[in-house]
Amino acid sequence: MNDLNVLVIESESIIKRIVGSCSIEAIKQDSPCMSCNKSYCCKRNITITLLEGLVIVKYLRQSGDLPRVIKICESYLKKYKNVNDLAWFTSEIPCPLLKDSKCLAYEVRPIECASHLVRSKPFLCTPRSSDEYERINMEDVIYKDVLELLKLTEDRALVAQLPLYEAILISSYIMKYISIKPDTDDSILSNFNL
Ligand code: SF4
Ligand code: SF4
Repeated sequence: MNDLNVLVIESESIIKRIVGSCSIEAIKQDSPCMSCNKSYCCKRNITITLLEGLVIVKYLRQSGDLPRVIKICESYLKKYKNVNDLAWFTSEIPCPLLKDSKCLAYEVRPIECASHLVRSKPFLCTPRSSDEYERINMEDVIYKDVLELLKLTEDRALVAQLPLYEAILISSYIMKYISIKPDTDDSILSNFNL
């Protein structure tokens, strides 16, 4: 097994831990997010690291959803590359992983998503609400695990934040490369001009 495969497996385990801690905290704090099926928060321009992207791509490959998600991400790259965060939010552009109001990678969803928990009513999460939603501060809950995740690699390209659709596309190319050349164990990212 090459270095990158090991890195993906280690990242996956930490991300699952973060997702789990966030769910436990949501229950403790009685957050409406636990029973919400509105997905308003899934219509923002989410940013993730390539580490998270690689874990999501591995998950989608196993579930069989990867081709569908790749198609959407490719179309987003063409249509929304220059759309700023505010315009994205007010236009309610759905995340490429959102299907039938559910996240296709819920178990390994991005840290930004897992830790986005509110105390306020779901409607306040829409751009149509004139009041602000009230977020629960999750810093203390996820801090240690996020640090551990970032310490897994010294490659800055892997921990830089990118729009989710871009990170998924790049991660899928990297994963494809690993499958073609499974013995690659040096800095694979140098092949992607990142
Ligand atoms: S953040 Fe808002 S829209 Fe998202 S799950 Fe929580 S209450 Fe629902
Ligand atoms: S990755 Fe999942 S949880 Fe996050 S915005 Fe997309 S659909 Fe929602």
